[in-house]
Amino acid sequence: MARKRVYVIYTGGTIGMRRQGAVYGPEAGYLRHQLEHLHEDQEELPTIQVSDWDPLLDSSDVGPAHWQRLAEEIRDHQEFDGFVVLHGTDTMAYTASALSFMLDGLDKPIIITGSQIPLCEIRSDARDNVIDALMVAGHEHLAAAEVMLLFNGSILRGNRSTKVSADDLDAFESPNYPALGHGGVHLTLYKARIRPPAAGPLTVTPLEHAHVAAMRLFPGMEGRVLREVLREPTQGVVLEAFGVGNAPTEAALWSAIEEATGRGVVVVVCTQCVRGSVNLESYAAGAALARAGAISGHDMTVEAAMTKLFWLLGQGLPPDDVKTAMESDLRGEITLPDDPRRAIL
Ligand code: ASP
Repeated sequence: MARKRVYVIYTGGTIGMRRQGAVYGPEAGYLRHQLEHLHEDQEELPTIQVSDWDPLLDSSDVGPAHWQRLAEEIRDHQEFDGFVVLHGTDTMAYTASALSFMLDGLDKPIIITGSQIPLCEIRSDARDNVIDALMVAGHEHLAAAEVMLLFNGSILRGNRSTKVSADDLDAFESPNYPALGHGGVHLTLYKARIRPPAAGPLTVTPLEHAHVAAMRLFPGMEGRVLREVLREPTQGVVLEAFGVGNAPTEAALWSAIEEATGRGVVVVVCTQCVRGSVNLESYAAGAALARAGAISGHDMTVEAAMTKLFWLLGQGLPPDDVKTAMESDLRGEITLPDDPRRAIL
């Protein structure tokens, strides 16, 4: 059987960094060379073509313009069977979420990975992550048409993932959806948890700049702080509320939200808890947010909610359409209260 062909994009991040005096920094060409070497004579691996970004970016500097560039690079290389994106870990969950929304008609696997320790170090986790990613992206039976985040043997839906540890090798989790697969002695994907492939062809919606913000509520928060965040030109805000979506019972907070939603600002409530879902009908403190015009982000991660807002507002959609889409399951990013899978997940 002919070997599959995988297109590898290295955007930057720890995985390909080298020591530069006292700190680590990206070095052009180093990772490409290592990948080609690692890959020599390995019949089990797909053949690869590597594209290095110039300049290589720490993922703290990756934003909407880079998500767009990545999505277009993937769209423009559809002659490949799968894609691996090597990326810094800090904002990897944002990029994975953004790609899942931006790539419409996806019918091939896209695996995003990186490492906590650079490949050049003896204890690096890079080699295992890269090999697993290449095998999932280029394996006939493992292929799943999703944007997946693979790290330390966990294969997660990209828009359900979040970075949970700054220094453990097991750095990512998918708190509200089970792992799509697992890399133990064997690499396994759980087909029942994977979305069916779209029909293609792959398209990327061009995005304009959108003004999106996130705000974590905290005890003692004053209304004027939130009012500042909601001011023009803000178009959409993810409010990280307490528990199932509660906010301090402070009239100035609610009136700030009411005034902003009245101007068409989309306010989406997510929870500060690692796990679980928002339910704005449980407590008076949450119901007041809904009355002020905020909508529920259900069990979306903040990363998914923010990138979904960037994607929807960046298409210039009117606020009511953005709100409807935010409360709908578009790419497996949200479990709605009436979802029959909810009981078994
Ligand atoms: N600061 C790095 C980045 O996100 C960290 C990493 O890759 O692990 O680019």
